[in-house]
Parts: sequence; structure tokens; C-alpha cells
Amino acid sequence: MKRTYAIAMLSLLLFMACENKEEMSTNPFFSEYQTPFKVPPFHQIDTTHYIPAFEKGMAEHQAEIDAIVNNSADATFENTIVAIDKSGELLGKVSAVFFGLNSAETNPAMQKISRTITPMLTKHRDNISLNEALFERIKEVYDSRESTGLDDQQIRVVEKYFDDFVRNGANLNDADKEKLRELNQEISANQIEFRENLLAETNRNFQLVIDSEEDLSGLPESIIAAASETATKAGLEGKWVFTLQKPSMIPFLQYADNRDLREQLYRGYFMRGNNNDEFDNKQAIFNILQLRDERAKLIGYDNHADYVISNNMAKTPEKVYEFLNGIMEPALEMAKMDRDEMQRIIDREEGNFKLDLWDWWYYAEKLKKEKYDIDESELKPYFVLNNVRDGMFFVANKLYGLTFTELEDMPVYHDEVQVFEVKNRDGKHQAVLYMDFHPRPGKRVGAWCGRFRQQTYKDGEKIYPVVTMVMNFTRPVGDTPALLTWDEVNTMFHEFGHALHGFFTDGRYDRTAGRVPRDMVELPSQIMENWTGQPEVLEVYAKHYETGEIIPQDLVQRLHNSMKFNGAFNTVEYIAASVLDLDWHTDGGTTELDVLAFEKQSMDDINLIEEIIPRYRTTYFNHIVGGYSAGYYVYLWAAVLDSDAFQAFVDSGDIFNQEIAENFKKNILEQGGSDEGMVQYMKFRGQEPSIEPLLIKRGLK
Ligand SMILES: [Zn+2]
Repeated sequence: MKRTYAIAMLSLLLFMACENKEEMSTNPFFSEYQTPFKVPPFHQIDTTHYIPAFEKGMAEHQAEIDAIVNNSADATFENTIVAIDKSGELLGKVSAVFFGLNSAETNPAMQKISRTITPMLTKHRDNISLNEALFERIKEVYDSRESTGLDDQQIRVVEKYFDDFVRNGANLNDADKEKLRELNQEISANQIEFRENLLAETNRNFQLVIDSEEDLSGLPESIIAAASETATKAGLEGKWVFTLQKPSMIPFLQYADNRDLREQLYRGYFMRGNNNDEFDNKQAIFNILQLRDERAKLIGYDNHADYVISNNMAKTPEKVYEFLNGIMEPALEMAKMDRDEMQRIIDREEGNFKLDLWDWWYYAEKLKKEKYDIDESELKPYFVLNNVRDGMFFVANKLYGLTFTELEDMPVYHDEVQVFEVKNRDGKHQAVLYMDFHPRPGKRVGAWCGRFRQQTYKDGEKIYPVVTMVMNFTRPVGDTPALLTWDEVNTMFHEFGHALHGFFTDGRYDRTAGRVPRDMVELPSQIMENWTGQPEVLEVYAKHYETGEIIPQDLVQRLHNSMKFNGAFNTVEYIAASVLDLDWHTDGGTTELDVLAFEKQSMDDINLIEEIIPRYRTTYFNHIVGGYSAGYYVYLWAAVLDSDAFQAFVDSGDIFNQEIAENFKKNILEQGGSDEGMVQYMKFRGQEPSIEPLLIKRGLK
């Protein structure tokens, strides 16, 4: 009876919160999803559903927070910390779908919603994080956390929430709190502008159109065919179009003999956001950096980098600089040697020019062929997309006993999306996995793994995750299946590592289980890349698309040798970008600023050679605009961790060693952020990570 009453009350509230009755009954976010595994009903979700769902989600969340604050009982772990941890369900539900799709399949209507909703969300979050009465209650629980019978996990959740509030300005006076709100709003408005400019600059504002066959010289057939298809889609039948999407650009830089065209295309890429037009990003990034610096100082940190990194495994920016410099030195020396060797090829061919930015890939490819007798086009026929996918499923099965079953007729947001049910070793449901492989005009560049639903516990019952992997891989062309580059193969394994983390994370509290320190979060993804090239794994997935022949041993051997090749270049361009990010977030806020001059100074300071630019320049460095600000270094930090962790398998003599796999799952994957990163790692490995395995892997030692 009581239950019926509660539902009736809830319905009444729902009715009152909706603009009209019809909306209430048709908005799929307002009821439990009636789909297999309760995945989002993409087929029923319409862009008109988002704003009402966001609004109601925020209202409900606020009401839950008010109820915590207005509770007349003393603050306890249950009535305060757990109540906060489980609040905001509807808001989480709509956010996961909206932001997932706004990255994977956006359009002007979605972008408009994003512009409307983002400042509202920022304001909503600020209303909570700056709620003094709420902070008082958290502080009460925090102050008595050692004497109220809480276990370690509960104490950690309390400490995390307390710390979040302090970091969000809970200790500020009213005027400063107001200032902080303004800063947050301005930052998010500038972030949106930056991202939209970048999307336009990448997908719309530039294409290299080729109309003479001569200019295709050097390019493999498959690349030419893809360019022809791109041209047809763009209404340029009979021509060839290359874009700034990596699957289109990188092969052109690797193979096109026409040096002027390589320059044109690469300039198109590295001048993104820097063309002094309506899509220019210099002002937006400048604003973001200034505002972040101001915010960090307001809260009591020296700068934004200090603020961010204090929450990471590394703890201080100095520690990160030290770490990066230690690897930059051998990498830069090695890169100079590679450069000189490439110059020798140019001179030998009587090229009569000095190696430049747009020549590196092309001559690296020649050098690779000379040294290792291998080129990408020799490998690609063995990397059929679906086979690679099955290869990574095989690895997950060998390590953790997972099985994957493709689900037909599932709701999807685009026809190309593949959906799988993931079952654990005992054949029980573990997760649903969405995979979206190819570039589209409405898809953000890069590759990522997200959640349409995070694992959680609700009233003691486990809710299983819905994980999504989104990539921008080479498309199938005509009758030829999608054939991946070696880089794409690794990217798929990488994102799958994040997915595994998502499948296994199992924690009582969302705050700790669901949030991993940024310099730890790439460990589960990057460790997967260690299995990609193992002979017993290649045997499973690397089969020729026409003959079915397994990749020959000799090619595998050459691939292995070549994997070290260009390791110096990759490391150098990466560290350059990491240093640029750190410099911006330690010094960038205080300078009378010329964005390009700052960037140049930053690169001069690390003696970057002029044939290499940072992997991302400031005006298209999307990582530092979003969640990886002062944190682009984390991939290399995690590379040290992943190389060292994989070494445990290697040292055991079995890359599928069950005991080590179980240990990794238990102490890393299942934990999420349930403990300090270094503590978890030490539990797994029994010692701190060493940089040696990484230096050896990259051929830097
Ligand atoms: Zn990643």
C-alpha cells in the first residue's frame, strides 16, 4: 500500500514537472527503458526529448540535495554521503545518452541543445558544489569519520566528497563563490566554441581535391579507391578527395610522391583553428587558459596544473616535468639520428631539399622499407576489421573468460553500430558493448570509450554497464572489407581495454568506483596493446582478406622489428605536446599573450627540432580543452605502468598467465578508483613501476 502511494505521488510530481501530459508519456527518459538489457531506446529518442529530460533531471537532483540538507537528523554516512552518491539518477541517464551521441553522431540540433544545456548544467553543478549547508553536513561526517565505525572504503568515499567540495570552492566566501560560478560558466562557453570551430575546421573547411591521376603517384590502390569514394560523396565524381581525417591524411603523407600536395594537406591539418577567420581558436583557448589560471588561484592553488595534478598519481607538475624530461632526452637523440638517415635518402635521390614537416612520414616509410623491408600496405590485407575485433575478444576470453555474442535488432543510433552481449566466465551477463567504427561528418575525431550506463548498485542490486567504443577507422571500399592500419588495430585494442575496465568495475559507491585518477585511467587500455602483436594473437585475427592465409611468420618478425621504428618520433611529438600542455597550465595564465609566440617559446625550451611539431598544436589541442588539461602526459605515464605490468606476464613465461590476469582484474580493473593509484598498482605488482621496459619497447635503449 505504501508503495502504491509513493508511486502515485511520484506520478503527480512527474505530471506537474512536465509541460504537458503527452510529453510525460512519450519521453523515453521518464520511464525505465523497455528494451533488451535496458539499453537506451535510441529508436524512440528524439532531439525534443533532451531538454525536458535535462530540466527534470536537474530539478529532481536538486530536490534530492534539498532533502539531504533539510534532514533534521544529524548527518550520518547513510543520510548524507550515500544519499549524495546515489542522487541525480535521471540526470545521469540523459547525460550519458546526450553527450555520447553529441560526440558520435551530432547535428546542428544537438549542438544547439549542447549550447543551451551546458551552461545550465554548469550552474546546476555549482549550485550543489557551492551549497554551504550540504558542505556542513559532509564536514560533520568527515570530522567524525574515524570514530563512527566506517570501513576503509566508506572512509575513502567521505574523504573524496569532502575534497571535491574544497576543490570546488566550498571554503570560499560568498563573493568568491559567485566569482567562481562566473569563471566556470565562461570556461564552458569557450570550450564549446573551441570544439565547434575544430569540428568545422576538420570536417568541413578543408579538403584536398585531386583531378589529375599523376598526382596520385605513390599511393596504394586502396587509398586511391577510398579517395575516389570520398570525392563521389562530396559530389566530385571522377576526382579524388583527401581530408584532414587521419585515415585519409596519414596514408597520403606516407605515400604521396607529390611533395607540394603533401605540404598542402599537412598545412591544412596543422593550421586548423589558426587561420584568422571565424573558426580561429586562438582567442577561445587564450580565454580558457586565463580563466583556469584565475580559478586555480581563487581556490588556493598556484596554477591549473598544480590544481589538476595534485589529485593524480604524480601529485605535482614538477614530478611530471622530471618524468617527461627523463624520456625526452634519449628520444630526441634517437629522432635526430632518424632525421639524418632520412636526409641521406633525400640527398641520395638528389631531392635537393631539406627534410621538412610534411616529409617525415614519407621518408620514414622509405626508411622503414629499407631497414625492415615492410610497409603498411603489405600489412593491411591481414587486418580485416571484424577479424581484429574477434582477435581482441579472443584475448579477453583467454585472460578473463569473457564471451561475446552479437545482438541483432538492438536499438542503435546509427545502422553501422554493432552491439554485443558480454558474459563472464560463468556464462552470466556482464555488460552490453556498442561499437561504432567509421568516420562520419557528425562524429568527433579520434577514438574513445564511453558509457551509456555506468555499473552501479541500486537498493543493493547490481546494475550492469552499457559501454560504447567509438572510432574513426578506414571504411570498407566497394567489395573490399574495412582493412585497418597497424595503428588502427592498436587503437581498437586500446579502446577495448577501457571497455574491459568498464565491464569489470565493481564498487559500492559511484564516486570512488566510477572515477579513476587520470594518470591511471590509461593503464587498462594501454596494457591491451601489448597483446596486439603477439604471435599467438596474430594467428587468430591476422588473416588475409582474400586468401584467408594467416600472416606469415616472416612478416610478423619484420613487424616486430619495425614496431620500434619511429618510436623516437612518436615519443618526441607526444612529449612536445605534453610539455606544451603543462607550460600552458603553469605559465599561460599570467602572460601578456601571443598564443603562437608562447607555443614557439615552449618548444624552443625543450630543444624540439624543426622537423617535428607537437602532436597537437594549441589551436586544435582538444585534449587540453576538455578533460585532459594539464594531463596530456598521462598516456606516457600510463605507458610506463602498462609496459611494467605486461612485463609481469612476460616474466612468467605465459602471456595469458591466469594468476596474473586474475590479480590484474582484482586489483586494477574491478577497483576503479576505490584506492590510491599507486597503492593499487603496488598490490598488483608488489613494487613500484620501472621505466626500463618502456624504453626497451620503444627502442630508446
Ligand atoms: Zn585511452
